[in-house]
This record gives sequence, structure tokens and C-alpha cells, in this order.
Amino acid sequence: MILREIYARSILSKSQVFDYAVNSYVGCQHGCVYCYARFMKRFTGHKEPWGEFVDVKINAPALLKHEIDKMPPGRVWVSGVCDPYQPLETAYELTRKCLEILIQYGWPITVQTKSPLVLRDIDLFKKSDKIEVGLSVTSADDEIRKLFEPGAPSIKERIKALEELHLAGIRTYAMIAPMLPGAEELAAQLSGKVDYVLVDRMNYHYSDWVYRKYHLEEAMSYDFFFSKGKKLASAFAKQGIECRVLF
Ligand code: SF4
Repeated sequence: MILREIYARSILSKSQVFDYAVNSYVGCQHGCVYCYARFMKRFTGHKEPWGEFVDVKINAPALLKHEIDKMPPGRVWVSGVCDPYQPLETAYELTRKCLEILIQYGWPITVQTKSPLVLRDIDLFKKSDKIEVGLSVTSADDEIRKLFEPGAPSIKERIKALEELHLAGIRTYAMIAPMLPGAEELAAQLSGKVDYVLVDRMNYHYSDWVYRKYHLEEAMSYDFFFSKGKKLASAFAKQGIECRVLF
């Protein structure tokens, strides 16, 4: 893992998903094989494989304090092109410090992660009624998870984190994206732990080698996503959980 501390030029960026995104890290230790965020390498000049480098924007909180006064309020995605609770966050606490600022200003926030480290910040989430916290959960099968998300926490830990957040009164969601084999079991496992669920399909471009290596091509055809997406939506409906299928 190549780690660099850098000074970023800006931190509050426009987002196509929400109004803004705050990414305190460039790169992600979780190294998911399907990660769309690897496109960042084109702009940052990193030659290392995705998952093997992280630039730490050590001035992220200072920049945010400076920029937030100049921008109209809007929903902020934490993070978008990195996991805000990747292991380095334990030491640097940049996500926490940025959240403190956003909460102080009363801006709405959508947190998305694969890590139970997010539980560290429950005290902050409780200070705002404009925060929702999501965990990406792509399959109920941890063997499948290991193929696609080798550096990320287990599925069990993520579902447990959702449960704790939900019990603490935080609005929670599960991001089943990309939906992987074994996702069908998630409806029962997420019952009572989330307010809603988002489902999306795979970005084939980055992960073709995984299907070929593990003979998953047929299991993950367009028909797979279409039929499994419909079944998942109806399984969640039976649990009384709102499910939005995004494809
Ligand atoms: S956790 Fe998210 S940002 Fe990190 S590698 Fe996986 S998909 Fe990409």
C-alpha cells in the first residue's frame, strides 16, 4: 500500500448524484474489483493498481471550513469516489472532522460505506436529523464477497453495523450495488435494519476477468440482473421495505 499525505486544492465538489461530494481520500484500501472510482487514476496520474495506493488529503477539514461559507447549502455525499471509513480513517479521522463541520452548518448528508468503522461516529449522526447512513451490501454470500471485494469488511459485519445504526435511531439504507450472486438472501437479513434499499447492476467493464476466472458469466448475464432485481424488489416489499431498482 502506497500512502501519501497531500494538500488538496478543494474539497467540496459538485456531484451528479447529490448536490456535493466530499472525498477526503484519493484511492481506497478496499480495492473492490468492480469499483467505478478507479477512473480517478486518469486524473491523478497514479500508476499503482486500484486498491494499492491512497492519497490522504490532510487539509480536508480546513478546506471544508473555508469553502462551506461560500456555497449554497445542499446534500453532501460522503464520499462517492472513496470509502470514507476505509481503515486509514481510524488514524486520520478526516471523515469525522468533515462531518462535524457539515453538521454544525446543518447541511443534509448521505454517508455510504462498507465498513463498521462508521459506528464510531454514531454520536455525530445523532446530532442531526438530516443524515442518512448506508452500507453497501452486495451479496449475502461472503465467499462471493471475497472475490469481488477482497479488502472490504465481511457482509456479516456490515449488516450488524446497519442494525446498530438503525437501533440508534439513524435513518439507514442498504446499497445492493452491484447485485452479486447470493443477494437474494439479503431481504430477510436486512429486515428491521434499514429504511430503504437501492439495487443496481454490475459495471462489466472493470470486472470481466472475475466472471471468466470463476465461470460466473452466465450467472451474471443481463437476464440474471433483470430477473433477480425483480425478485429482490418483491422480497423486500414482502418485508415492508421500500426497494428502488436503478436499472
Ligand atoms: S469500497 Fe467503494 S470506493 Fe472503495 S474500492 Fe470498493 S467500491 Fe470502490
